[in-house]
Amino acid sequence: MRLSIPLASIVAVSAVLLAPAGTATAEPPAPSQPAVRDFGNGPERHEEAAGGDEQARALRTPALPTTGEPSGGPSRDLGYPRRTELPEPPENPADASIKLGLVPYHGIAPKLNELQRRSDRVSAEIIGRSAQGRDLYLVTVTAPESRAEAREQARLRERIADDPAAAARDRRLAARYKAPLYVNANIHGNEWEGTDASLRTIEELATSADPKVAALLARTRLYFNVTANPDGRVNGVRPNGDGFDLNRDFVTASQPEVRAMRRLMIDAQPVTMIDLHGYVNGTLIEPTTPPHGANYEYDLFIRNAYANGLGMEAAVNGLGYTAEKDGVHPAQIPFRDSAEGWDDWPPIFTPQYAPFHGAVASHTVEIPLRVNNADYANLPVEELRRRSAINTDVAAAAIRASYAFVQARHDALIADQIEVFRRGAAGEPSRTVPLGIVPGFGPEDVYTTTFPRAYVITGERSATAAARLVDHLVANDVRVGRARHAFRADGRTYPAGSYVVDMRQPKRGLANVMLEPGADISPRVDAMYDISGWSHALLWGATVEPVTGSAPRVAAEPVKAAVPTGSVPRGAGPLALKVVDAKEVRAVNDLLAQGVALTWTDDGRAVVPASARRAAGTVSDRYGVAFTPAAGATGRPLAPVRLAAAVAADELFTLRELGFPVTPVSTAVLNAGFDWSATDVLVVSSGLSYTALDPDARAALDAFLTTGGVITRGGTGAAFNAAAGLLTVTAVAGRSDANGVVRVASSAGPVGAGSPEHSFVYSPRWFTGLGPEVRVEQSYAAEGPLVAGHWRADPRTGAGGPEQARGQAAVVSGRDERGAAVVMFGTEPMFRNHPKGLFPQVARAAYWTATATAATAAAAH
Ligand SMILES: [Zn+2]
Repeated sequence: MRLSIPLASIVAVSAVLLAPAGTATAEPPAPSQPAVRDFGNGPERHEEAAGGDEQARALRTPALPTTGEPSGGPSRDLGYPRRTELPEPPENPADASIKLGLVPYHGIAPKLNELQRRSDRVSAEIIGRSAQGRDLYLVTVTAPESRAEAREQARLRERIADDPAAAARDRRLAARYKAPLYVNANIHGNEWEGTDASLRTIEELATSADPKVAALLARTRLYFNVTANPDGRVNGVRPNGDGFDLNRDFVTASQPEVRAMRRLMIDAQPVTMIDLHGYVNGTLIEPTTPPHGANYEYDLFIRNAYANGLGMEAAVNGLGYTAEKDGVHPAQIPFRDSAEGWDDWPPIFTPQYAPFHGAVASHTVEIPLRVNNADYANLPVEELRRRSAINTDVAAAAIRASYAFVQARHDALIADQIEVFRRGAAGEPSRTVPLGIVPGFGPEDVYTTTFPRAYVITGERSATAAARLVDHLVANDVRVGRARHAFRADGRTYPAGSYVVDMRQPKRGLANVMLEPGADISPRVDAMYDISGWSHALLWGATVEPVTGSAPRVAAEPVKAAVPTGSVPRGAGPLALKVVDAKEVRAVNDLLAQGVALTWTDDGRAVVPASARRAAGTVSDRYGVAFTPAAGATGRPLAPVRLAAAVAADELFTLRELGFPVTPVSTAVLNAGFDWSATDVLVVSSGLSYTALDPDARAALDAFLTTGGVITRGGTGAAFNAAAGLLTVTAVAGRSDANGVVRVASSAGPVGAGSPEHSFVYSPRWFTGLGPEVRVEQSYAAEGPLVAGHWRADPRTGAGGPEQARGQAAVVSGRDERGAAVVMFGTEPMFRNHPKGLFPQVARAAYWTATATAATAAAAH
């Protein structure tokens, strides 16, 4: 299921089934997470193409799929059926699906191989690999196509997206074009039955002699992502093998499964998609409550999404399961049945991301009967299997209704998809959806935006950050140009080489949802389902300027990948590298791992000796970083900073991605006896309680604190600071469900200097009562911190809101009397691997705490 905040209003029965309120990643139970893989395949393993990175750029080159290798999506150069012989994984008796009587992961490939042999309507392909290395299967079900016919479909699809005005005029297009439907299953690993319903549907369609099925497949392509999260399926858990909730990752695409789904949506361009989840009883079928994302063409979307929602509801209720006999309640549609709490505001979910690639109906479907977590552990096997069988029926009914919907509205859905892209390409203003466009569509449902004429992205603050953002946009199928010459726009002059996003483009909605600052929606709704703020422009470290006046007059070449950004100045002297971007962190950690003797300055620079200029040249190419002459800068010796981290899974992933050696720890790990001799800095945000340590563990930790550094984040970190007697601060908690993009002011301290003007918070905190040893690194803006998101004061006390946080310390540093250098974050600098521009703050905190503590320790001896 999607949920982290209970939907009090939907139906009474669901309240007891919902997870407790809380953030998805703020304080997860770290010790019970599945093992997070220590990826050792080179530093670029988890990155999409980034500027100045030859290895990553090579990966972007399109290549024909070879059997058994990820193709990256449905190829335009092969006909159907494709008859890929899928490699069959070894049998795994521990697969969590087995207890439920469902297909284990290792059973999927043999089933698909068998269906491909039996039917010329079924094609299986591998479109990527999970974090733990499992194949991701795409199944296409359609009537056979010759290679030429498949190319014709590809041309029509490209015409719709690339030249929608011409596609709209082509009256013969819809008759020739097969409408694409995308069924996404099992994105949450312990919400299993979408996979089984998909396999059942594939088999039915493959083997049916019904002429109606033949007619469907002649006019439709049905794409099934059979299990979007095989790691979670096997392990019986929600996240993938990296501990990420994949259904929160679509704006970031940090995970390989999400990058595969993104590629699939771009390449298949579905008119309709459904995302099969569990468990909400009665079956929950989108569309959603307000607030509605303002960058959609919502008039087109809601008409189709509501119609398909009603069709799925009828199909699910039509199965005949009852509350009395089966414990199955009637289906519910949040848009119709609830006031708020199940919104489509952030495009982090699959069905809220798909519309930007042309889906004009997309839905989360929550099948009814819970079989995961405590129920999985405690219910009798027969009861679990009874529930899973019903859930499979319900998911299959939703799929059946959706393909019937696509069949019935074939031409209209294609026309609406064309219209989405046409409005974008024409740069038409955002439309205000007429009230009553569907029954119940009221003023509370109306959200609009103003699209700028363009965005300009420059390397003014960080060239590597600009390159990362441009590559991310391109990977999302947003068109970006690179200026051939200097130009003026809105009264400003931009240099040649600046990147320009012309907002007259088919996927302008996706460009805007990433590049706009976002909006403060606190006044409009009481409660939000998940995050309410994000912004690649404000949080990823690049300089992004909207152009609201006339279009920039500049010749720009289309960008396939950002240009390289690395450089080393000529000469023979020592070099410096200022750490303002994650790429510089990686370069520093790479040099440290090579044994280069660096020093670290208080203003956040690594100094490379002249003898290591060759190594600097290599990392300059590898990460696209620009060195400068050291010009006399010195600093304290910097060795590899070895972290012991009691952190959430997303933070562990991010620290490792940055190239830090990390050992995960927890209360239990320390109580079992932990050798601190290989740790320089302890990071605490989750799963470690000082007061829960036994005396030996506490003594060992106290000894470490005389020589090591500490970084804390959030409530767990603040509690650790207080219990361990580190910095003199009072940590004040803002409202726990508050989140979003905030304005900050940074000091010239070792962590604050070089920070962006914005940060991200979830359950924000600030620090008062600062002792004389405490320095403010960053404060919430005095004029009011919240830029985008949802953050209210507690309605009962009036406390914990953004007013109270004005001007307060958000990040602090200091040295406690034992010598430990400590940095405390009240912000969320590594949240879900999203705010890339904030990662360097954590790295500077690590370098500073390590070097400052080492210096203190050395002086004491
Ligand atoms: Zn789910």
